[in-house]
Amino acid sequence: MKKREKLALIRKHYPNALTTIDTVNKIIDFVEEKLDLEPAQVMFADSICSDDVNSIQYPARALEFLGPFKMGGLDGFPFTGLTGMGAFASHVPDDGAVYIYYGPHIGISKDGTIGEIHRLGQNKNSGCCGAAKGALGKLQNNAIEPGNITELDYQMNTIEQILYKQKDRILNAEIPLHEATEVIYEAIDSRILELVTATKYNCNYVILVGAVLINSDSEVGSFSSAKRFDVINLKTGSKENLLHILNS
Ligand SMILES: [Zn+2]
Repeated sequence: MKKREKLALIRKHYPNALTTIDTVNKIIDFVEEKLDLEPAQVMFADSICSDDVNSIQYPARALEFLGPFKMGGLDGFPFTGLTGMGAFASHVPDDGAVYIYYGPHIGISKDGTIGEIHRLGQNKNSGCCGAAKGALGKLQNNAIEPGNITELDYQMNTIEQILYKQKDRILNAEIPLHEATEVIYEAIDSRILELVTATKYNCNYVILVGAVLINSDSEVGSFSSAKRFDVINLKTGSKENLLHILNS
């Protein structure tokens, strides 16, 4: 399958999607050309789902950054919280930058089925994101109890509560899993902004890239549909919106 065919498949649902490899390359170019930093001066953290497919489809070039610090749990919600944020922010090179890539993920299989991928060595497709699909199934069956968060399944219950708060919006959508993924993105984005504001840094920049991460079958790879690309200059306090760089 050629790259343009893969992009056409993914862009039916996510019109601005790029391959995750191209996304990483654009960010590294930006860091070197506009911030005048080397990737080794950047502490990278990601808040993406713990699903093994995200480790398998992780672009090799992202390892030029320091890190990654893993902030995410099920479907990418930043479960490491304020403590996780404070920890990696204190590991950054002095004149460097913090770079956070965050968002939920969703599968689109080679045959175009949303919410599924074909994983290496398996006969059948499986769910992706399994947690989002599980929570959506419970929402559709009226099985989510408001406020119910247990110790045994804390992360899953948190995802369920996020969906429960937008029940009508999700259930009335044309593709409920696509809408549920948007809802989870919004929850992650607002939590990340809260964590970023509440954290102290000894570096020059905070780079934020919020996206829906799209996984496909093993031979198709992964894609990124960016929703936010902000650079905060910690010396001046200014914030620049650079989303256009990840939309081309
Ligand atoms: Zn997942």
